[in-house]
Amino acid sequence: MPMFVDTSPPGQCIFCRLVAGEIPSAKVYEDALTIAFMDIGQVTPGHVLVATKRHAATLLDTTPEEAAALMQTARRVALAVRTAFDPPGLTLLQANGALGGQTVAHVHLHVVPRHEDDGITFTWPRQEPPAAVLAGYAERLRAAL
Ligand code: AMP
Ligand code: ZN
Repeated sequence: MPMFVDTSPPGQCIFCRLVAGEIPSAKVYEDALTIAFMDIGQVTPGHVLVATKRHAATLLDTTPEEAAALMQTARRVALAVRTAFDPPGLTLLQANGALGGQTVAHVHLHVVPRHEDDGITFTWPRQEPPAAVLAGYAERLRAAL
């Protein structure tokens, strides 16, 4: 993932400032809970970020309504990306925590148009554990729900 370094001072989240209109953005859409704007990094042309309006650091800090609204706005933006840019593929990416690849600690979702040889790569180290291990993981998660 391309590295952006968030240099905002503590308590002055860059996306909160963007939502408040204190810094400029190329806005695409907004509603009561979400805002969509062009990512300054433009990994591919048409790369949009969808963020909550309220400050929430990660997905785990959102309300169910905000989480649903993020995906509804992402879907809307994805349809607009198809109409406006017609990419052959589209990837949604949502990073949580520095180790999860998050560089701006205000929850957001990337809507990224995809093309042949666009330079985006993911390392996805498949491990395929035995069924009993999968069952154990599922059991732990069911207990945690
Ligand atoms: P992530 O690494 O998933 O936290 O993504 C943060 C993204 O925010 C990066 O892709 C940056 O290019 C983007 N970004 C940072 N500041 C701004 C800004 N002021 N306007 C638009 N995008 C921004
Ligand atoms: Zn914020």
